Amino acid sequence: MVHGYLIDLDDTLIDDTWSMEVAAKWLAVKFAIPGCDTSEQVVARWTVLTQLNWCRFRNGELSLREQRRKRVRGLLQRELNDGEADEVFAGYASEYQRNWRLVPGTTEFLRRTATLPRVIVSNGERSQVHRKLTALGIHHHFVAIVTPEDAEVPKPNAKIFLHAAELLGLRPHQCLMIGDDYEADIRPADSLGMSTFHVVRGTAGREILDAVPPCPE
Ligand SMILES: [Mg+2]
Repeated sequence: MVHGYLIDLDDTLIDDTWSMEVAAKWLAVKFAIPGCDTSEQVVARWTVLTQLNWCRFRNGELSLREQRRKRVRGLLQRELNDGEADEVFAGYASEYQRNWRLVPGTTEFLRRTATLPRVIVSNGERSQVHRKLTALGIHHHFVAIVTPEDAEVPKPNAKIFLHAAELLGLRPHQCLMIGDDYEADIRPADSLGMSTFHVVRGTAGREILDAVPPCPE
């Protein structure tokens, strides 16, 4: 029986890929990007650079700021000093934040799950996770936020899920983990004996609202 929910944030409750794509297209308009003829190519390059350098940040190879600068320099393929790279990233970040939005169905999902404690389990940077939840007005739904800063390890390490369950005062088999990334969210939670729901947007039966049944009238 489920007594609490562990919930991923990006692309589970918040449409992060869309926000990132809009902001990357803004970069394509503002700057000449060598080797990219279309905004889609810019988005594709930015996505690869983001995944690569975010992993290096999470591995401790780069600071948060350094991974941002690497992404900017990699996209623009130019020698930019730190101040110039920071300025480009600040413009991107502003567009990214301006376009944060909820995944369709999230408001109803939060209504349906309100009877049990919920904790966010995200690999995002802690202060940004807070800003996203606050900006979208859903912060109050969660009893806690768990990020690698709290658990000392990122997903898919099982420790971060155990840390979240402990915060809820629950054993793993009493938790339902909901997320969009099979390898990061679902496989490790499943290996701990948690119930899981894999969100696959655009797929019937796998949307966020399919994770929990409707409330009785
Ligand atoms: Mg996610």
